[in-house]
Amino acid sequence: MFRWVDTHCHLQLDGREPALLLERARDVRHVVVPGIDLATSRAARVLASLHPERVAFAAGLHPHDSARWSDQRRELVPLMNEASAIGETGLDFYRNLSPRSAQMESFVSHHRLAVDLDKPLIVHCRDAFREVYDVLDRKGAGPWVVLHCWTGGPRWSRRFLDLGVSFSFAGPVTFETGDTVRRGAAVVPPDRALVETDTPYLAPVPHRGEPNEPANVALVGQALARVWGMDAGEVARLTTSRAAKLFGLRGCTDNGSPTAPVGDRIRSPVGETAAVEGANDRRPGCSPK
Ligand SMILES: [Zn+2]
Repeated sequence: MFRWVDTHCHLQLDGREPALLLERARDVRHVVVPGIDLATSRAARVLASLHPERVAFAAGLHPHDSARWSDQRRELVPLMNEASAIGETGLDFYRNLSPRSAQMESFVSHHRLAVDLDKPLIVHCRDAFREVYDVLDRKGAGPWVVLHCWTGGPRWSRRFLDLGVSFSFAGPVTFETGDTVRRGAAVVPPDRALVETDTPYLAPVPHRGEPNEPANVALVGQALARVWGMDAGEVARLTTSRAAKLFGLRGCTDNGSPTAPVGDRIRSPVGETAAVEGANDRRPGCSPK
């Protein structure tokens, strides 16, 4: 059985019992549960404390709610301190549920906190490739920046590759309409990729229309294996190893040994040279290129 890491799984937003969803995801070693606001970041922390062997959590404010950043910031920051990652944050210029200026302010603040706290940053990017790219290019990026539910085509994938970021793929890579996503994935080296479900959203084929769950993450990995012409087992090995290093997941590395401390983890080589350069240069205002 392969061992996957579902790097983006909102177990706390699902009406079903999280323990049950974890129980039937037998081939999923770990899940990362990101918050979308203060309450759901707290709920994610509770899940991580209930299932410390399998659940890591992230704290942050989703771009849909960016307008609440100044209200929630003070209470979110201590949670971020405890979390394995910062997020999810980012820009969503498709739904524009918060004003663009508020989204930008919140995203840049999350980026700054990720740098200051030396933690991975989970980035939601919808209809805002250029704007997300510009922030990362100006303020710094590296493997510690995780582009969640990556749907960019080959052109944007290549540009973001140059920033040294990590690409997390989700259900759209399995969709019949997912040609652009698959062509984008084709230019991403497998050792720069992660897999996720984005539970309870975006269930992969053949579960579209159903609530998603971590057990489905293998379907995303198998779709990537077809794109890259490789074994699903090799995709599991590469993506799990990258996720374990980034999020500091215990018992996930190839030899089963605990992972390195946070600082070493983020600064140690992950993937290619560009990624290492990015990892070594996280000072705000410095472009890693
Ligand atoms: Zn999400």
